[in-house]
Amino acid sequence: MITDFQEHKTLRDSYDVCIIGAGPAGITLGLRLAAAGWSVLLAEGGGHDYAPRSQELYACTSSGLQLYAEQTRLRYLGGTSNHWAGRCRPFTPSDFSIAPPGDLPGWPIAYAEIARYLPAAMDIVDLPAGADFHAINTGLDGDEFEPDRFLLSTPTRFAQKYATALEQTPGLDVFINCNCVDLEFDPASGRLAAVLLSDYAGNRQRQVARQFILAAGAIENARQLLNSTSLAAAGVISKDGLVGRCFMEHLNIDMGTFILKSGLDPDPREYYTTDAFIEHFKIGKGNVRAALLADVQTYGRTAEVKYFLETLACDMGVASKVAFVASFSCPGDGIISTMIEQFPSLHSRISLLDEKDALGVAKVNVNWVLDEQDRHTIKCIGTELATQWAKQNLGFVKLNDFVYDTSVPLRLSPHAHHMGTTRMAADARHGVVDRDCKVFGTDNLYAAGSSIFATGGASNPTMPLLQFAVRLAEHLDARMSAQRSAAA
Ligand SMILES: Cc1cc2nc3c(=O)[nH]c(=O)nc-3n(C[C@H](O)[C@H](O)[C@H](O)COP(=O)(O)OP(=O)(O)OC[C@H]3O[C@@H](n4cnc5c(N)ncnc54)[C@H](O)[C@@H]3O)c2cc1C
Repeated sequence: MITDFQEHKTLRDSYDVCIIGAGPAGITLGLRLAAAGWSVLLAEGGGHDYAPRSQELYACTSSGLQLYAEQTRLRYLGGTSNHWAGRCRPFTPSDFSIAPPGDLPGWPIAYAEIARYLPAAMDIVDLPAGADFHAINTGLDGDEFEPDRFLLSTPTRFAQKYATALEQTPGLDVFINCNCVDLEFDPASGRLAAVLLSDYAGNRQRQVARQFILAAGAIENARQLLNSTSLAAAGVISKDGLVGRCFMEHLNIDMGTFILKSGLDPDPREYYTTDAFIEHFKIGKGNVRAALLADVQTYGRTAEVKYFLETLACDMGVASKVAFVASFSCPGDGIISTMIEQFPSLHSRISLLDEKDALGVAKVNVNWVLDEQDRHTIKCIGTELATQWAKQNLGFVKLNDFVYDTSVPLRLSPHAHHMGTTRMAADARHGVVDRDCKVFGTDNLYAAGSSIFATGGASNPTMPLLQFAVRLAEHLDARMSAQRSAAA
């Protein structure tokens, strides 16, 4: 049942599981754990729709590259799935077997551990069972790039798709306008004892549960951990520790422009780096998209032709008959965009500010920065792509100077894929959560969503984070069942 916490504070005394945040990760976990017979509280900070009082709680400062973190995340039921684009690409085995350069390890688990949850995750985002992630073009002749393979979700809007299930699943209590404002850790037991929940008038309620899951997105998961004075006092979370560090994005680099050779297929071309290429150059993975521009704002040949036709049409008084020219996409100039892997780095981080939000939670600063290794990745992918295009006689690529000259500031934009702030590792020296997504140093506090990503690859994060969410639901079900049997 969905209840408004602002109006009714009718929570049970205790729940088996308390989940913070009802985006794709939280909704998936809540429905699965309740279906398995557990009592579940799904506490969502926002309401049914966008509201400034909720969205403003996402306000943060930025000291690094511009992330647009306030605008891109949505803080209401369904989370950022209310405007995600639905592009789905799974991780591949090499994402889990090739460690990033530097001192930080890669994933502590094998790809097989999440591969078996792919069908369930595909079903959640409405991809047909057994559908192949297919290539949209034939790729390049060299060994560096292969055709990219992905599928498009409808895109699934989680609040709408699961509206009935959230209302009617027995054992599941969804509370909206129900903000987590503190985590209360008990050092004697090593367990999180309770969370503090607040409505928008500042009325707080302490809520007990056996297991807790943070599913509030990568920036907020780290923020909740850093904001907890009891976790800090117990030494579980340290402000200078790994929580909030290794913040990663997928890089959308404005690589440059291209002119396609006349007569070639004008459809967009998408390529993906091969494992051999990334291993040879010790670089991150990348998707590259070369697409023709469809309007007259382009430079060079296409612009000239379009200008000529438009002028001619006006002179002859037949402008309306040739209006299609402005929207017609012809072989000519295009742009090259990317989705490139950023390696985990301690310098790229979320940290707590002294300033508090309207509900008394410390705000955060996002210092999204890139390392030399990331510039190396961008340079290798850009220059190799241009080389392969020339070799295959597809046309001409004009790279922007910052692609090959790393002293020139980059022009890039984020993809709103926030990852890595509570990274998974084999031990607490290298991460925040263990193989089961449990926060090191606690017995019953878990994290869900792309904050747990040890590396981000160049795959869109939502379907993979759902694979992890289904895996976590299965793990918690097994763990709580074993505890119940032991107690009986
Ligand atoms: C424009 C855009 C396009 C995108 N396109 C794609 C795409 O094509 N493919 C892809 O894979 N990904 C895409 N993404 C990313 C995708 O939206 C996220 O990966 C996904 O939504 C993350 O799910 P989540 O459940 O972890 O977090 P979120 O969706 O961010 O949900 C977190 C939830 O927690 C709630 N919350 C936060 N703080 C609190 C609190 N203190 N107390 C209680 N509740 C709280 C929020 O209100 C929210 O409902 C896109 C993102 C954007 C912005």
